Amino acid sequence: MDIADTVESTQLSRATATQHFDVLIVGAGISGIDAAYHLQKNCPGKSFVMLDTQKEFGGTWRTHKFPGIRSDSDLFTFGYKWKPWSGVPIATAEEILKYLGDIIEERGLAQHIRYGHTVKTASWSSKDQRWTLEVETSDKKETQHFTCNFLWMCQGYYRHSEGYTPDFPGMDRFKGSIVHPQTWPEDLDYAGKRVVVIGSGATAATLIPAMAEDTAHITMLQRSPTYFFAKPKEDKLVSWLRKLHLPQKWVHAIARQNVLFQQKVVTRRSFEEPEKLKNLLLGAARQYLGDDFDIETHFTPGYRPWRQRLAVIPDGDLYKAIRAGKASVVTDHIETFTKDGILLKSGKTLQADIIVTATGFNLCVMGDIAFVVDGRQVDFAERWGHRGIMFSGVPNMAWVFGYLRTSWTMRADMVSAFVCKLLNHMQDKGASVVIPQLREKDKDMQPRPFVEAENFNAGYLMRNMHIMPKQGDREPWIFSQDYYQEKRTIPNADLEDGTLIYQ
Ligand SMILES: Cc1cc2nc3c(=O)[nH]c(=O)nc-3n(C[C@H](O)[C@H](O)[C@H](O)COP(=O)(O)OP(=O)(O)OC[C@H]3O[C@@H](n4cnc5c(N)ncnc54)[C@H](O)[C@@H]3O)c2cc1C
Repeated sequence: MDIADTVESTQLSRATATQHFDVLIVGAGISGIDAAYHLQKNCPGKSFVMLDTQKEFGGTWRTHKFPGIRSDSDLFTFGYKWKPWSGVPIATAEEILKYLGDIIEERGLAQHIRYGHTVKTASWSSKDQRWTLEVETSDKKETQHFTCNFLWMCQGYYRHSEGYTPDFPGMDRFKGSIVHPQTWPEDLDYAGKRVVVIGSGATAATLIPAMAEDTAHITMLQRSPTYFFAKPKEDKLVSWLRKLHLPQKWVHAIARQNVLFQQKVVTRRSFEEPEKLKNLLLGAARQYLGDDFDIETHFTPGYRPWRQRLAVIPDGDLYKAIRAGKASVVTDHIETFTKDGILLKSGKTLQADIIVTATGFNLCVMGDIAFVVDGRQVDFAERWGHRGIMFSGVPNMAWVFGYLRTSWTMRADMVSAFVCKLLNHMQDKGASVVIPQLREKDKDMQPRPFVEAENFNAGYLMRNMHIMPKQGDREPWIFSQDYYQEKRTIPNADLEDGTLIYQ
């Protein structure tokens, strides 16, 4: 065998050899990076790797490339507690990626990340006390095998490869372009074009003001209205604190507490005095749009505020685009697409060159990974969520599902601390395995949806709630989506309450 053969065979065996880590993180988005930070800090002896399908870190903020892409939350709470945010509260995707990129560099995380690695299957063997993962790589199109003791799922909650587009009648007849924001063609030329955006969620509210200046006209077509929250771009308290040259860490901590306090007030009011809150939101709409605008039809939802995410519009930009006549809103139902636009149920037509389907996501439970425990396929819809983090009968695995009302990352941070505490607890006890299991007294629990419609009823969740795990009616089987409750329960969780079985 000559040297070239030796090199080739070594490379081949390296490519196909199984690689083992103490912890394997799926996803290098904001949750995965948080998990890696906590592992480095709290479990320094553990080896870990982070796998992601994409070519670079950032998850959501890498996938979405539509005009104006920005956060909906302020970065004092969407950013991490442990890394001050130095920009304006609402950030562009580019700024979020820069923030995450700085962390990767500062913390030396790059060496732990493998891009272009898609996890296809995850199989637990009780005999070996480990997970084996089949991973497809994008460059060589080969299957690699990884094993790990603990699997940390930071793969988000929706399918990244494609968004959700309802099957509208007559779509194939339309002669223009149909675009979903999640798979935005970077060369899409919309200058001088008539654009119709179907939907009125946060994505539509971001896209429309960002495109309005350049299009001939842009129309937001909605079946029913959404609440918008017109907020100043600037956080006056933060600007003032920064003028005092206080350390960034302090400014971040104060700004974060201030935002949390304000959110708490808004959330409380949404439950206790929804009418007053509604009038406040609609009053702002009236101020921007004028008294002659039909707020009742276009901006007055039938649900109470906060039952769906309140879509932030910085400095009222969406309202301003409408007021300036560059954008308009139509509340109606689609009868059919036609060759040059949309025919509505009312008989009206909307002419369009481009139709943007801002119609949401495809909820996806575990990154489309097929889970198997000791040879048996796992259907997560049959499993009970343990604090919405682990799942009954699924060993050594945690999932980060963040907050929907408060910033996602607030929960990601809390889950990260919980997982590290659990890993250290296992180490102290000399346990290799932890399995959530119902106690005798839990066996009469009535299942409730993972996220209850009464609490939060966004379309993408409601469409697919049947594929999500169940929650129970008592701790630790509850997933309240309430930061203030979990802030007490998760950090103080009793890891020996009989619901976690160690081996
Ligand atoms: C346009 C948009 C704006 C948003 N704005 C906000 C906001 O302002 N505030 C807020 O709180 N939330 C917001 N969200 C929700 C947002 O998704 C989360 O807050 C957060 O970014 C999720 O981070 P994550 O790391 O958990 O998951 P993601 O960002 O979804 O990242 C998951 C990563 O896992 C990878 N992955 C998935 N499956 C696999 C697999 N099988 N193998 C390997 N890799 C895999 C994906 O490629 C991806 O890179 C927004 C969502 C969208 C779509």
